[in-house]
Amino acid sequence: MGFSKILCLSSQSPSSKKASSPPNLPFSKNTFHLWYFSLHLRANCCSLKSLRTYSIPFTGLKLGKHQFDFVVDDAFFAEFDYSLVKKANLQCVVELDKQETMIILDFQIKGVVEATCDRCLAQYWQPLDITEQQIAKFSDEPIDEDDEIINLGKNDHEINIAGLIYEYINVAMPFISVCENGGEDSHCDEEMITKLNELASNGNEEQTEDTDPRWDVLKKINK
Ligand SMILES: [Zn+2]
Repeated sequence: MGFSKILCLSSQSPSSKKASSPPNLPFSKNTFHLWYFSLHLRANCCSLKSLRTYSIPFTGLKLGKHQFDFVVDDAFFAEFDYSLVKKANLQCVVELDKQETMIILDFQIKGVVEATCDRCLAQYWQPLDITEQQIAKFSDEPIDEDDEIINLGKNDHEINIAGLIYEYINVAMPFISVCENGGEDSHCDEEMITKLNELASNGNEEQTEDTDPRWDVLKKINK
């Protein structure tokens, strides 16, 4: 998949950093999500005002390295209607190296996103520490379908990196999410796991009283 298609270019005026609130909610598997995301973003990202915060104007920059900082939080993911990530608290540092013929973008994304444990269904904070690089070349010639290099034409003045950030985060999510990923203080709800196991083995039996809403939901599903 060509990332270049996902990334949005624009000639509108630049905007600066974003500041925001804390994190918190579920998440799980990546493949379908990424596929859907690319469709969604190709259509929409350039028109979303809040995602314009994630545009880097490059025409006025001198050759050399420049740093840009972004906050990736709940508001960021709220712009993606079908995002499995709802809550996050991440810092994204982008080092932009402007050269004569290209721009090299080095991403460092660090922080946490709220994920749902695959074992006990509890929510926990999944730490992420992402390093990625994207190259954008100045050229008016079209690039190949599979080429992961972004093409910057004469009329492009800035790069919107929201799509890249979104993609990097989704790719970085663990294939299996478990509470233990959240650190030493993060543990599965053993009681819940026991109940889930009981549910799996004898789903038709009546269960005793329980006040955990997650359990009530599961009982209904099972019936
Ligand atoms: Zn768990």
